[in-house]
Amino acid sequence: MSKAIQAIRGMNDCLPGETNKWQMVEDAMRRVAGNYGYAEIRMPVVESTNLFKRGIGEVTDIVEKEMYTFDDRNGDSLTLRPEGTASCVRAGNQHGLLYNQEQRLWYMGPMFRHERPQKGRYRQFHQFGIESFGIATPDIDAEVIMLSARLWRELGIEDFVTLELNSLGSNQARADYRDALVEFLTLHEDKLDDDSKRRMHANPLRVLDSKNRDVQALLVDAPKLSEYLDEESTQHFASLCKRLDAAGIKYTINERLVRGLDYYNRTVFEWVTDSLGAQGTVCAGGRYDGLVEQLGGKATPAVGFAMGIERLVLMLTELDKLENIRATTDVYVAMVGENAELAGVALAEQWRDEVPGIRIQSHCGGGKFNKQMKRADKSGALVAIILGDSEIEQQQATVKYLRENKEQQTVPFSNVAPLLEELIKG
Ligand code: ATP
Ligand code: MG
Repeated sequence: MSKAIQAIRGMNDCLPGETNKWQMVEDAMRRVAGNYGYAEIRMPVVESTNLFKRGIGEVTDIVEKEMYTFDDRNGDSLTLRPEGTASCVRAGNQHGLLYNQEQRLWYMGPMFRHERPQKGRYRQFHQFGIESFGIATPDIDAEVIMLSARLWRELGIEDFVTLELNSLGSNQARADYRDALVEFLTLHEDKLDDDSKRRMHANPLRVLDSKNRDVQALLVDAPKLSEYLDEESTQHFASLCKRLDAAGIKYTINERLVRGLDYYNRTVFEWVTDSLGAQGTVCAGGRYDGLVEQLGGKATPAVGFAMGIERLVLMLTELDKLENIRATTDVYVAMVGENAELAGVALAEQWRDEVPGIRIQSHCGGGKFNKQMKRADKSGALVAIILGDSEIEQQQATVKYLRENKEQQTVPFSNVAPLLEELIKG
């Protein structure tokens, strides 16, 4: 036997039994995005490498070491998208969706980053994201955050996530702060680890989210970003906080929150959980007023977020929030005997017509009653409908309840559809 081929490390299959959990989460995302009038956009999975270099920034973890980049056959450098925002802006610019307009968009799909695979961190992972263009006022920042908060309620995890919030200010404010920070870090360079030393020169704000405890201890005395905020950004942030207060959304202000991508200004936020161990950020976002112009469009204010679907599914699983998800089948039709088979297939078709949304698996492959009932049980169906030649003769079906302690019953064919309707309602 030849050696079986395996999936690429860090790229996972999503198997039956898992896919229904994903569908539940994805349905909630679509529903909530719809609740706020957002429209779906779908972008290609592959883009020009330059898009991400220009959009995300050369000195970021993603661009420096995480991208799947390769040459196309004609020599163009292409990259599997590591995130959605740059692609979304590219598409918006290309199709004239952004200039002088408001757009509220959402997307969902696979992203690719060459990271060390571990729980909650994969090389192909999936994001749901929101991008809102053309509105500069903090009401839209609040809306985007409220939308994410609604999703947590829909998923039943609102008590297990907390919101961290910060403002990065204007580009000028950030540049001034950067100088002050570098000055401080230079004085204490001997106390920095190698990673922070490297960041200090390449992208100093990133030192703030170092995981190293000694570095974090040192930063207690570092200059604070809030002391450098420009007046307008300060007002924007205060107004956002007021709106969140009014909406009853709790948050903590985390002055060290800077985010790993270059394009953010003013508002940045993360939803974090301690139900997932090290990979605790489930959703991250902020304002990126400069990106549209940076990618060749007309200056357009924008704000958005992205959330990792794997981390959410993991979290829901760990919190036992996925136990009541319906199996893929509601009804299993068992048919014993030649007449029953012929009639049964036609009846199953008729019930599919009559009961919208019903999910019926009809038995194939013949065999004894007991074997068919085993299949019925395995299918996850709520009931088995049993048809033998005598049932066909009398134009009635036997309904056996597979998941509840309820007497089996025999009903005329004409009563089956109403019974199934009741069944999937409950
Ligand atoms: P982290 O700090 O965990 O590396 P990040 O800041 O790189 O996250 P973003 O680029 O902001 O993450 O992506 C938004 C969300 O996408 C994250 O909060 C997380 O839920 C998810 N995510 C990012 N990278 C991965 C990955 N490699 N595997 C699974 N989910 C991921
Ligand atoms: Mg990362």
